[in-house]
Amino acid sequence: MIITIDKSKSNGVIDTLGAASQRSGASIRIIDWNDGSLSVNVLGQIEPDVLIHPAITGVHSATRPYRLASKEHRERTVVRVGEVEIGNGTPVIMAGPCVVSDVEQLITAAEAVKAAGATVLRGGAFKPRTSPYSFQGLGEEGLRILAGARAATGLPVVTEVMEPDQVEITTEYADMLQIGARNMANFPLLRKAGKARKPVLLKRGFSATIEEWLMSAEYILSEGNSQVVLCERGIRTFDTSMRFNLDLNAVPLLKELTHLPIVVDPSHGTGKRSLVPPMALAGIAAGADGLILESEPNPDSAKCDASQTIEPEELARVTRKALALSRLLGVEDLVSG
Ligand code: PEP
Ligand code: MN
Repeated sequence: MIITIDKSKSNGVIDTLGAASQRSGASIRIIDWNDGSLSVNVLGQIEPDVLIHPAITGVHSATRPYRLASKEHRERTVVRVGEVEIGNGTPVIMAGPCVVSDVEQLITAAEAVKAAGATVLRGGAFKPRTSPYSFQGLGEEGLRILAGARAATGLPVVTEVMEPDQVEITTEYADMLQIGARNMANFPLLRKAGKARKPVLLKRGFSATIEEWLMSAEYILSEGNSQVVLCERGIRTFDTSMRFNLDLNAVPLLKELTHLPIVVDPSHGTGKRSLVPPMALAGIAAGADGLILESEPNPDSAKCDASQTIEPEELARVTRKALALSRLLGVEDLVSG
């Protein structure tokens, strides 16, 4: 059962629910959605009498395995990354290099990202590379460079964490933690990110079903972190002509299943620079709350994922078109009522 509570009137109600759950051998976990509402996740049974209280605005039985992520008890969640809101109706464009390779590369890339109109800077410090011989990222030095780029541009930063032990240090430098496709089912990492006080960008594993992905989001939510954004980044299919297949069915389906925002990554989803702009716009047309794109001034010299990295001029065009398309679709929604 999930109980929704108006935080401004919650005086004493949590204690009452806690005492009632103890009496019946249930346990409760509280999640703060950062919008004035709390959810109490009740594991077990609770006496129905305690559910009548002015602060309780909803009581939902949990029929989905991903009960906190489910749309059954909540219409939408807006996630804040620094000052940027994801899920408020205007798409958020996140962009930057796949990997941070040095100060100059990142600062020029960050300035170009900002000039292109994107509002969140991406860049990898801890990199999950297929080959152990490929550049693995600069680690903590990369985090420091990212924080420097934030100071220089004002853009909040999203960067990947690969292990539970990296969460603490990454939280100190970054505004959002990325959990990559290869770690979507790394349950100790999900739990640790669930205890962090920073939003999490949870990428879909490339062979994960939608339900498995939502269950991974549930791990983070169930530890108390309400700030989760899902990222569709392509799945692996029988077709080898592209690196991955961007599964845009996922976007409208997730809009039916979950209140969490969803962003689309057409860079990894295609693996091919020329396919990135059209698939970015297709993601917006499908209803995505944002995009995450690999972009830097000299894409061909990128140390990682060069073939899918776009130039800043292209990023600026994609950003302009994505925002215009979203406005157009919003107007259509208003007209058709
Ligand atoms: C990345 O964002 O650079 C990355 C490695 O993404 P994914 O986990 O989706 O492969
Ligand atoms: Mn990459």
